[in-house]
Amino acid sequence: MTEGFSTRAIHAGQPADPVTGAVVTPIYATSTYLQDAVGQMRNGYEYSRTKNPTRLALEECLAALEEGTHGFAFASGLAAEDTLLRAICSPGDHVVIPNDAYGGTYRLFAKVASRWGLNYTPAAISDVDAVRAAVTDKTTVIWVETPTNPLLNIADIEALGVLAREIGAKLVVDNTFASPYLQRPLTLGADVIVHSTTKYVGGHSDVVGGALIVKDEEMAAELGFHQNSMGAVASPFDAWLTLRGIKTLAVRMERHCDNAERVVEWLAGRNDISEIRYPGLTEHPGHKVAAAQMRRFGGMISVRLRGGEQSAIDVCNRTKLFTLGESLGGVESLIEHPGRMTHASTEGSPLEVPGDLLRLSVGIEDAEDLLADLSQAFGD
Ligand SMILES: *Cc1c(COP(=O)(O)O)cnc(C)c1O
Repeated sequence: MTEGFSTRAIHAGQPADPVTGAVVTPIYATSTYLQDAVGQMRNGYEYSRTKNPTRLALEECLAALEEGTHGFAFASGLAAEDTLLRAICSPGDHVVIPNDAYGGTYRLFAKVASRWGLNYTPAAISDVDAVRAAVTDKTTVIWVETPTNPLLNIADIEALGVLAREIGAKLVVDNTFASPYLQRPLTLGADVIVHSTTKYVGGHSDVVGGALIVKDEEMAAELGFHQNSMGAVASPFDAWLTLRGIKTLAVRMERHCDNAERVVEWLAGRNDISEIRYPGLTEHPGHKVAAAQMRRFGGMISVRLRGGEQSAIDVCNRTKLFTLGESLGGVESLIEHPGRMTHASTEGSPLEVPGDLLRLSVGIEDAEDLLADLSQAFGD
């Protein structure tokens, strides 16, 4: 990997268009391609579910950013996850999942994959011994997010990679919260990276997408086969929007981190908050591991309010600049109540989140304006 991250973000997989010289990869809105003779394709393009030049540019760029060899782009993060599970698991297999996984990921395991015969155990993925204790003789996958959504727990990717190899399982890392700018799990021993590119990778809250990235030929062939066979691919327009977002990923992430640090500093001075969950804080239980495996600590912050659930809901309802909404990782700041919104599907399960929890996705606006908005929302 000779070129720097920002150079790869702007150029990897995106040479000038061979037909026109267009500097930006065009949106190749076509379902099919001319064959010069029966079965004789030009440049390997046959049908766009199988391969499309705009999607290929995104896939090559993502692979370069994650220091993998192959990327696969999907219609959503969950489509990527579903395809991955069918590709690497069989009915009867067992997966260890985070006990505070993203609600949609939990729902996929609990309500969809389980009906297909896949078993799972939620575990505290910040504790390698707890993960080891959850392993059975049928475990084929250890699945982690780091930082987790919404509690910002940190998994030690290197240590879990060692455990996965020891038991003959694959380590899957959902790298959505960190983005490849802050953390590259394949270099730390992960086998597969999952992204909801809807979040930081796309970065502008204007497209839903997902991706898988690997560095192993056999796994790549398996994923490519399933991507084509299951068909939940990213459209050329979605791929183009995502590529456009990626070009500024490095500068956006620096600003997300700068602003999040300012917000954390402001929150730390308040006595109506009982806990701040941000891996950049030295008192965060995963701080040391995060400092070792991440470049900086990201733009996501979760806090618990002393006033309980109603206080958390009141703050959400009062912010003006922080938009009340699901999702995260866009240029605009967002606020939400995980218990009633993104993680409502975990209610009554081992993954249920505390009612007094607020989640902030700190955007790249002026920090002073963000602090002023939080100040009025907290009723100062
Ligand atoms: C949003 C999200 C997903 C799901 O992605 P979609 O693009 O919404 O399907 C998966 N993992 C994490 C950590 C997420 O935040």
